[in-house]
Amino acid sequence: MAEVLILVEHSDGEVKKVTFELLTIARRLGEPSAVVVGEPGTAAKLIDKLAAYGAATVYVAESAEAASYLVTPQVNVLARVAASNTPAAVLIAASMDGKEIAGRLALRLGSGLLSEVVDLDSDGVASHSLFGGSYTARSKVVTGFPVITVQPGAIDAEPDEGAAVEQPVDVSAIDAGRNARITARQPADAGDRPELTEASVVVSGGRGLGSAENFAVVEKLADTLGAAVGASRAAVDSGYYPHQFQIGQTGKTVSPQLYVALGISGAIQHRAGMQTSKTIVAVNKDPEAPIFDIADFGVVGDLFQVVPQLTGEITKRQG
Ligand code: FAD
Repeated sequence: MAEVLILVEHSDGEVKKVTFELLTIARRLGEPSAVVVGEPGTAAKLIDKLAAYGAATVYVAESAEAASYLVTPQVNVLARVAASNTPAAVLIAASMDGKEIAGRLALRLGSGLLSEVVDLDSDGVASHSLFGGSYTARSKVVTGFPVITVQPGAIDAEPDEGAAVEQPVDVSAIDAGRNARITARQPADAGDRPELTEASVVVSGGRGLGSAENFAVVEKLADTLGAAVGASRAAVDSGYYPHQFQIGQTGKTVSPQLYVALGISGAIQHRAGMQTSKTIVAVNKDPEAPIFDIADFGVVGDLFQVVPQLTGEITKRQG
């Protein structure tokens, strides 16, 4: 059976949810193999979890230097494994880093690239979002090893037993290419809230909030639901909320079970980052706001009246 390489996203010894989704979708094309790039001891913490989602082989590239460079180590390792294994495809999360890795890898391999795929057939035909989700295109790579970025949350992860046989990769693949070095890391401060791209519920605020202080309304509802907080670019540009929480074409892509949009008009660039959410709820005082075109449930009203009532009702029901 053809091998399908997936790049493992991990942090603090935990496999990110999107990796399980990649392993699940990879099984449609062939036998999934996971590629782990990290510091020494990383793979040992991840391997059982990768096996539980069907990884047949786990390629391990570990080096003390792995976290010292931007995306070069992952590109180098994937290029090396792909060149010697002729995979049916390479699947990478459509995260900030993942998109950069995929672009560089496709160029390196002389391969076609499909980005932001939301579904993938067993014959390699992919569905992917175009123009902020206004169109779904179906396409297939015909040159080289297909390199495909998959939208986080686009499909549900399903467990499957895999042998997860460990294969070391020569770490000189990591050490090659040192044009930029990471000198410090500042963890994003999201408090106790879940990480935005991993959260199953996201509550977002837009320019309709009117001020940074008013974002407390968004945070209160988010905390009641155990949700992450997001923001539109207009809210970020107005200084209401930090850029790391921006959702959309030039921000993060999320695909939670529930997305609540408060005071967000629903511009195409915002939709690009959230339109694959399973259920979308919008509160907007303008009945013509485009967000209502994609909302499953919409409330036309002033968010400052609607949201506190909603938060209060949920709190009451939680007992
Ligand atoms: P607005 O469009 O101003 O909408 C505010 C909404 O709040 C309105 O619909 C209004 O009716 C409603 N409202 C106001 N007061 C209340 C109230 N009291 N109660 C209820 N509703 C109320 N945008 C992004 O979000 N993410 C991106 O990544 C992004 N990337 C971009 C990239 C490019 C190249 C460009 C050109 C634009 C990008 N944008 C992005 C900007 C995008 O085009 C919109 O300008 C932006 O999304 C609008 O944000 P908004 O909906 O918060 O603000």
